[in-house]
Amino acid sequence: MNDAPDSPRAQGILHRVYGYTDFLPLQEEVISHMLSGGDAIAVMPTGGGKSACFQIPAMMRPGVGVVVSPLIALMQDQVSALVQAGARADFLNSSLGLGEERRVRERLLSGETDLLYVAPERLMTPGCLELFSRVSVALIAMDEAHCVSQWGHDFRPEYLRLAELPERFPGVPRMALTATADPFTRKDMKERLGLGQAREFVGDLDRKNIFYQVVVKDRARERLFSFIQDEHPGQSGIVYCMTRKKVDQTAAWLAGKGLPAMGYHAGMDARDRQEAQRRFRHEDGLIMVATVAFGLGIDKPDVRFVAHLDLPHSLEQYYQETGRAGRDGLPATAWTAYSLGDAVAVRTLQDRSQVDEAFRLVQKRRLDSILGYCETSRCRRQVLLEHFGQSLSEPCGNCDVCRDGVRSWDGTVAAQKALSCVYRTGQMFGAAYLTDVLLGNSTERMVRFGHDKVSTFGIGEELDRKGWMSVFRQLVAAGYLKVDLESKAGFSLCEESWPVLRGEKKVPLREDPAPPVRQRRTRTGIGSVASEPHVVLEGPAQELWERLRTWRRETAVEKEVPPYVIFHDRTLKEVAARRPASLLELAEIPGLGEKKLALYGRTLLALVAGEEDV
Ligand code: ADP
Ligand code: ZN
Repeated sequence: MNDAPDSPRAQGILHRVYGYTDFLPLQEEVISHMLSGGDAIAVMPTGGGKSACFQIPAMMRPGVGVVVSPLIALMQDQVSALVQAGARADFLNSSLGLGEERRVRERLLSGETDLLYVAPERLMTPGCLELFSRVSVALIAMDEAHCVSQWGHDFRPEYLRLAELPERFPGVPRMALTATADPFTRKDMKERLGLGQAREFVGDLDRKNIFYQVVVKDRARERLFSFIQDEHPGQSGIVYCMTRKKVDQTAAWLAGKGLPAMGYHAGMDARDRQEAQRRFRHEDGLIMVATVAFGLGIDKPDVRFVAHLDLPHSLEQYYQETGRAGRDGLPATAWTAYSLGDAVAVRTLQDRSQVDEAFRLVQKRRLDSILGYCETSRCRRQVLLEHFGQSLSEPCGNCDVCRDGVRSWDGTVAAQKALSCVYRTGQMFGAAYLTDVLLGNSTERMVRFGHDKVSTFGIGEELDRKGWMSVFRQLVAAGYLKVDLESKAGFSLCEESWPVLRGEKKVPLREDPAPPVRQRRTRTGIGSVASEPHVVLEGPAQELWERLRTWRRETAVEKEVPPYVIFHDRTLKEVAARRPASLLELAEIPGLGEKKLALYGRTLLALVAGEEDV
């Protein structure tokens, strides 16, 4: 595709350092653009290979590539991975001791550094600016660049000062990288970073290996537990909850059930938080129960599931969070439990956020889209991608709607009954009370209000309690009912209610699927839609994989790095499946670059050969 003279050199680095033969989509284009000295914005999905887009040109251009990254832990992992692969990388942040920092400076000044990771607040200090004025800067990469936008949910005030970079580093090519597809955030990011002239590279945002599933909340914790037990036993995952209290309770509950779960939220002591992060990255199979505070920049490749016990407030946030699953391309699941309560909470947000008109509209569209996504009868992936301005011509075959189908029914009459019951009872009550009226279950309170005499009393016997709850939930989600959680005033009618009541508008509703009978989901067929074929290991290969994993764990502990910095699962699985007998055969396995081959090649061969002492 690209025949610039630099291309073979970039490819050489890809092979030597990273152990890959071919570029992923857009990598080559972005690299060649950076080599020509242009500015760039790269929007690529999580796991799309963004890092190489700045790392390779930084290694090729004269001078040091400066990488702005929001999290210390993330910097450390990336730098460890680079050093392990034989690249010349360092970081500058508050975790360094004085002596270490001096050595980093010395290496930089003597031209021994190709990549220097810096925290944003550090980069703009006089000391740092002075340091960089003494060396030549090859490029500046701003990772997780959406953090500069107040529209997004990861806003970092320190990122705002990156707007000064063009003035401080005139002529140095800059690039902003993000997986955030939300059009509003993206536009804002571009403006704030002064990247109006930059070339924009937008990748295919589809995460093919992620299975999307939304279940209706009903004994949500038990369902979460069965989901983990049945589909991801012994694997790493993240469970998101809205509040700190729920995080603590859920983590304790899961731990009580024997699962290795930990909690994480901003209310915890900084040291405990760091320790939880460290364990999650370094140990296999842990489950992190967390608020939104957890996750930015987490690049653990083998997170096998992301579960939401509460609904995120935008599809952007949902996509960002679920995107933390399956970065390694192997099958992973995004599992969400959703209820009437979530729909009400989301709708209430909309009414409260009346900051300015433009923001209100954006907010409304966002909230509509997340609720619409939960209630959709279409392929979830199609809905997601369309929201982000891309499309998928055929249903994906790898979401719950594609797999299980959705039965819809004509809910027009039910909707009319529900809405008119809201009206007859004075627009003051919530779903539980209204359902009692519709079912004709008179209570003392109802008699006191005289609602056992209204015309909608007992007219809803065709549905049961769950059925009516589902109707109310869908009416709220679709905007046919107004809610206000703050004033606890219950549901009221809105403009959109009237066409339904007058019979001018049909209301198709979705039948809520029953909880599944417990059984392991068969994964057959998923390999054909996932980006990478799923390596299935059995018998001796499975045993070898376990041996390789044990060795990797021990090596990681020895080197004080996360296991995936030594090798990704995918690489070790390939080793287990192919059983290479020579270094030459080993070199063909993706993820084994020159340095790693030299470091670990013989050990791997010995492990494959079944030698005990390696
Ligand atoms: P992102 O930052 O976009 O989420 P990363 O840079 O962390 O993605 O890369 C995601 C995964 O893809 C990593 O495991 C990385 O080693 C792998 N990868 C990067 N480039 C290639 C390539 N050209 N071929 C195969 N795998 C690659
Ligand atoms: Zn689908």
